[in-house]
Amino acid sequence: MIKKLIRRILGVSPAPGKATEPVVFGPSDHGIRLDDVPPNAVRVTQTLQQAGFKAFIVGGAVRDLVLGHRPKDFDVATNATPEEVKRLFRRAFIIGRRFQIVHVMFGQELIEVTTFRGASSDDAPKDAHGRVLRDNTFGEQHEDAERRDFTINAMYYDPARQQVLDYHGGMKDIRSKTLRIIGVPEARFREDPVRMLRVVRFAAKLGFSIAGPTRAPIKVMAPLINNVPAARVFDEMLKLLMSGHAMACLRQLRQEGLHHGLLPLLDVVLEQPLGERFVTLALANTDERVRDGKPVSPGFLFASLLWHQVLEKWNAYKAAGEYPIPALHLAADDVLDGQTEKLAIQRRIATDMRDIWAMQPRFERRVGKAPHKLLEHPRLRAGYDFLLLRCASGELDAEVGDWWTDFIDADGPGREALLSKKPAEEAEPAAKRRRRRGGRGRSKANGESAPE
Ligand code: ATP
Ligand code: MG
Repeated sequence: MIKKLIRRILGVSPAPGKATEPVVFGPSDHGIRLDDVPPNAVRVTQTLQQAGFKAFIVGGAVRDLVLGHRPKDFDVATNATPEEVKRLFRRAFIIGRRFQIVHVMFGQELIEVTTFRGASSDDAPKDAHGRVLRDNTFGEQHEDAERRDFTINAMYYDPARQQVLDYHGGMKDIRSKTLRIIGVPEARFREDPVRMLRVVRFAAKLGFSIAGPTRAPIKVMAPLINNVPAARVFDEMLKLLMSGHAMACLRQLRQEGLHHGLLPLLDVVLEQPLGERFVTLALANTDERVRDGKPVSPGFLFASLLWHQVLEKWNAYKAAGEYPIPALHLAADDVLDGQTEKLAIQRRIATDMRDIWAMQPRFERRVGKAPHKLLEHPRLRAGYDFLLLRCASGELDAEVGDWWTDFIDADGPGREALLSKKPAEEAEPAAKRRRRRGGRGRSKANGESAPE
């Protein structure tokens, strides 16, 4: 009791993994401005509290608000059961079978409401490597905090009192820019190996360093990711690549020994000298778009990451006597098959990837009706952006990208003129042409952008 009192007075956090009482921070300490919290998130906590329940904004949103970043989404944690939550809101849907959560909708806006989870029990079913398969009991707030992954993700914000409840020293870790797992690192990574990927994502995204004890076991435990269902690894990879810090994340994954042999995609991305410039450009573009709040397409992103592997196989099939178009399809099949074992690329995304790849040889046919036909392709914009990326990386002559930029922009007669334009240009050496054009054809590649 006295220890607790001293901790409160000093603002010192309890020993990690052992906290039942939080350290409470007021507005001047946590710095969250109520104005930065969307009214609907406040409405949800308020409605629950007025009905007699505890309710807090929790997790990544609190972390981001304290850091002064704009949170991606807002989650609420409560001691109300999903049924009790549902009854309080007009548009609320219970999602999930084993551990139910409630989606409370306001127009398009979604607030996810989760009932506090109980402490994980030793008898929870696990796989042969110790990964917890199901552990879905409700519990107390401090148990909920203990089950969260990192100290900075285990803080609870009460908009009514404007207080942050901090169970594991998250505020201190935010101030020292430290990513620290709650509890015993080895045990937490064994329970859920995806946490190793999450460490890397948050460290890279927030520019935090990883606490020594959190970091130490990762290299040894990295192979446990092999036992995680492919769909979950894919989801996490997608989050990582769309975090706005994809390059930094990939570099850190490599640094932590998490790339090798684990995620075939990363082996390809990080160890292909040929494609490095291409991938670097693709990721830099993606990062820029995410940071500007623009949409990015996962299909475009994965198509970029795997392109040089496709190219290599495409060339091999052609060299073996296959016609170019069927050769490209065979190469695409090989590459996608090679990935799906560990990384379940969703079918919709794989379809986009194939479309983008399959369009590429069509951009090189610039005679007759073919270019007009290509303009009608529903994924033209993505294919064209991909083409610009190939030009920018030096794989293709910039002139091809320029020609398409002009062709897309031109009116009917302009297009006919472009189609009939040929020999003189074709004979001119590529480097000279590029100089004359002053570096045009630089890519804004991302799958969504407008032509320059
Ligand atoms: P982001 O900005 O990426 O959304 P986030 O911290 O909100 O970051 P989510 O995946 O949305 O991440 O998860 C919400 C919260 O749920 C986390 O902040 C954390 O408290 C908890 N959480 C998520 N995944 C895990 C996990 N694998 N193990 C333990 N806790 C987790
Ligand atoms: Mg989140």
